[in-house]
Amino acid sequence: MKVYKFGGASVNSAERVANVAGILERCSEPELVIVISAMGKTTNALEKVAQAFFENKQDAALQLFEEIKKQHITVAKYLLVTHYLACEARLKDFFTEVEWLLHDQPVREYDYYYDQIVSIGELLSTCIVSFYLNERGITNEWIDVRDIFRTDDNFRDANIELSFTQKNIEEQVLPLIKNKKWIVTQGFIGATDENESTTLGREGSDYSAALFANLLDAESLTIWKDVQNVMNADPKEIPDAVPLPSLSYSEVIEMAYYGAQVIHPKTIKPLQNKNIPLYVKCFLDAALPGTIIHNTITKNLPPIIVIKRNQVMMELKTKDFAFVGDAHAYQLYQWFNEHSLRPTLTQNGAISLTFAFDNWEDKIAKFSSAAAGLFDVHVTPGLTLTTIRHYDAEALNKYVNEKELLVKQQTVKNIRVLHR
Ligand code: ASP
Ligand code: MG
Repeated sequence: MKVYKFGGASVNSAERVANVAGILERCSEPELVIVISAMGKTTNALEKVAQAFFENKQDAALQLFEEIKKQHITVAKYLLVTHYLACEARLKDFFTEVEWLLHDQPVREYDYYYDQIVSIGELLSTCIVSFYLNERGITNEWIDVRDIFRTDDNFRDANIELSFTQKNIEEQVLPLIKNKKWIVTQGFIGATDENESTTLGREGSDYSAALFANLLDAESLTIWKDVQNVMNADPKEIPDAVPLPSLSYSEVIEMAYYGAQVIHPKTIKPLQNKNIPLYVKCFLDAALPGTIIHNTITKNLPPIIVIKRNQVMMELKTKDFAFVGDAHAYQLYQWFNEHSLRPTLTQNGAISLTFAFDNWEDKIAKFSSAAAGLFDVHVTPGLTLTTIRHYDAEALNKYVNEKELLVKQQTVKNIRVLHR
């Protein structure tokens, strides 16, 4: 059994959906679970609907939603003939789910409404793809993953309840697969025990696919992307970036931790726990080998460069020049937690602590004013954080030595610099 995951870019138009069908036609795997994201930028568009609704701009919300409806109906019309009416009826049920909600006034917290609205993106895309595959003779069963993935009610960043989910997989998914059915289902979403929709965090479909692979003891997971390989750097930042044909799980976890936008950070653990290899392949040219991520350490990796822009440095000095102690650190991490702030870099000194953050202005402002009771706080925006794993002299010359550095951290394997 294998799991395939197709991201939003692979289904962002009728042509791209047809291309996915082409890949699946050439797949001879008898048992396949296909996890799909929302089409193209649908999630961003749905976020705008949720915002407008929450700001009590009901007309604007409905109008924005109308656009999303139109786009999906257009793609469905283009792709489907015999199955069009059945598909349209299903799409309309999902539209109605959202429109009912949009006609109300918001009374609960934003994150709850966000999840009820944004989760529709994956339901729409998978509905169209599933009907289209069936029409092309690629027989599959569509599953509403909200009946399978049980989560807590931590909306927008929900946590999977594994034992319930495992039971649902065994009772509902496995029998279908054993019946020689391919499954088409959604990434990124789940539901609480009260049947409220939840989402697992932006870009969470990779993680959903990894969970399926883990719970089904799949032979492998393939993530189909618009890039040929995982690279040693973002080619938009570094034009002479090189492909990495093979990576270990731990290397990818490190890369994701330092901010590389390769794969959702939560994806690796469920795979590593069961030693399931992850293939990253290009949906535009399925014949290319791509990258394999597995349990094997790759020697002689080139320097891996992760550049995070728009960073803010925050220096905190104790007011009375007292040494920084456990109590200070404990208090700070409590505030981080309260404000959902995660530092991208931390550095301890005798009487000061230094952090870098992604530039979430409102959270940083709230955090600074909380911290101002204990510390003198100094904030410097507009910085870049560069991390190089497996650095060599050439990489240091190119990406570090010329820069105006504010913080530098160096270990045997990594160098991290915060610079202008
Ligand atoms: N559609 C969701 C997003 O854009 C989930 C995903 O694509 O993985 O964040
Ligand atoms: Mg995506």
